[in-house]
Order: sequence, then structure tokens, then C-alpha cells
Amino acid sequence: MFFSKLKVLKSHGIQYIKDLDRVELPEIFRGRPEIRPGLSSRQAEELSTLCPSGAIGTMPLSIDLGRCIFCGECAARHPEHIRFTNDYRMAAARRQDLVIREGESGPVPFAAEAVRPEIPRLFGRALKLREVSVGGDASCEMELNATGNVNFDFGRFGVDFVASPRHADGLVITGPITENMAVPLEICYHAVPDPKIVVLAGTEAVSGGLYAESPALDRSFLQRHPADLYLPGNPVHPMTFIQGILSLLRAGSERESGEAVGEETPVETDGTEEAGV
Ligand code: SF4
Repeated sequence: MFFSKLKVLKSHGIQYIKDLDRVELPEIFRGRPEIRPGLSSRQAEELSTLCPSGAIGTMPLSIDLGRCIFCGECAARHPEHIRFTNDYRMAAARRQDLVIREGESGPVPFAAEAVRPEIPRLFGRALKLREVSVGGDASCEMELNATGNVNFDFGRFGVDFVASPRHADGLVITGPITENMAVPLEICYHAVPDPKIVVLAGTEAVSGGLYAESPALDRSFLQRHPADLYLPGNPVHPMTFIQGILSLLRAGSERESGEAVGEETPVETDGTEEAGV
């Protein structure tokens, strides 16, 4: 009996991703875009009109990852100038860092100096988060659930989702923040003990996404309580969430060493293939 169970365990192989810092996603994943210069101002204007979420800026041509829903229409229109890489490292501590301009090719910068010092100091070894869906469509919520599964096993870093804001160190907000959810979100925020962090997960949370202009939204919460972490994606990929949270928690040591967070070169890992991400 005992040996048969051992055999079953062995047949399962290694399920978890061994090194979450060295994951490379499949080419099909639509992550950080790159824009090659060369489009005329008329073509840039056309792209801006084409974009369903108002993510494309002109002069210079740019894509705001906080608004982009990663539909790929712009890349399909001008594949020689716009392409989406498989780089999931798109987390930012400052909203303005989510804007990718033509000619830029490096990773999205993570400004460690913008992170409040108490965040890595107090939560660097254990962070409990309360997820609040404020008009979300359940896509980001499902991806966040996946961070705790056997593949990603984010709990190994001491990061967990908890059921009550009273037990949490911060909020992870998904969805565009509807008027109906504005008050519950405020109540939930005040139920979290100080100091606390606010994470915006997914394009809808960062900017409102496709619903940004809707009168059914009330995003005044973010004027009262600025976010500590911005995570683009529609929905946000579990690895973007993991990279963002780890960058936030490691900001203290990165600040001391003077290194930029999240600029390591991704390396192929067999752990990714085993996990099938
Ligand atoms: S991929 Fe993003 S920037 Fe391009 S058209 Fe779609 S929403 Fe706009």
C-alpha cells in the first residue's frame, strides 16, 4: 500500500516551477509590446483610433500598458512596427512607468525608490492579501487563484490570500471599481490594519480598461488611497502578479544594492515546461 502510493507520487513528477525568477512563457503569450520607429503621424493617429481602450498615444507613438487590453489589433495592423513579446515582467511601482514608447525595448522599469520603505521591511518575509473584486469579470480573479496552485506555489514565499481584511496586510483590487462596489471597497480598506498596501491587478483595476468612461464607475477610491503596485494584463498573468509582488517585497535590498528590480535576463527553465505555463 505504502509503496504503491510512492509509485503514484513518482509518476506525477515535479509539478512546481523550481525557480519563479527564471520563468519564460511560451511565445504565444502576449506580454510587453515593442514599437519600432517609422510610422507616420497619420498612421499613428489611425492606430490611436483603432485601439478600443485608448491605450495608444501619438507624438511619440506609445502604448499605455495600464489601458491596453492586449487584443493585438495594433500589431496585426502594423506587424513590422509593433510586436508583443512574451515578457510578463510588466509590474510597476509608478503608474507612468507603464507607458511604452517607440524605440524602447528593455523591460518595464520597477522603481524601487518609489516603494515605501516599510513595505519590504514589514512584509518581506510574510504578506497576507485580501482580494477584492470590484466589478471584475472573474478572469483576473481566476488568475490570482492560480498563483497558489501546485505549479506556481506562491505560498512558498509567505504570500497568501486570506478571507478577512482584518487578517490582511493589503488589498489586491480587480475590476474597474463600479459605483456599487465603491463603498464596500472603502469599508474593506479601512478594515485592514495599518500600514497596508494597495495592489491594482489587471487593466480594469489600473485604468478602468474598456469601461474607463462608464458613468457606472466610481474610482475616487484611488485618489484617496494611491496604489503601491500596478499590474497590467487582461487578465493579469500569475507570473506578472508574482514578479510584481516579489519586486515590491525586495525593493529594500534592491535599493541598498542600487540595482533596478526586474531587469534580470529571463532564462529558459524546464520547470516551466513541467508546469505547462
Ligand atoms: S493591443 Fe492594446 S494598444 Fe494594441 S489595439 Fe489592442 S488595446 Fe490598443
